[in-house]
Amino acid sequence: MKMKKIRIIVEPELCKGQLCHICIQVCPVKILKPSTIPSRMGGMIPYSPTPEKCIVCRKCEYMCPDFAISIEETVEEENLVIER
Ligand code: SF4
Ligand code: SF4
Repeated sequence: MKMKKIRIIVEPELCKGQLCHICIQVCPVKILKPSTIPSRMGGMIPYSPTPEKCIVCRKCEYMCPDFAISIEETVEEENLVIER
């Protein structure tokens, strides 16, 4: 069985944190939140506690003025365990 895995990657060196937070506002499923991780401007970069709820619309990617956020979607084969 194939499993989808989604990673939301934010670059602290590029992100403006709470001076921006456009990605948090545009996410249609509201899964992006401010974290406690400082950005290059000292703000809090966004993160998601529930990346599995991401619908991969990529609005955050398209709207980020600093190309600081990206969505990585991979499809993995679930490990098969064969019992004898
Ligand atoms: S839109 Fe980009 S720069 Fe703004 S908070 Fe989100 S990741 Fe950071
Ligand atoms: S890709 Fe869409 S659903 Fe996923 S975090 Fe970005 S805006 Fe939200």
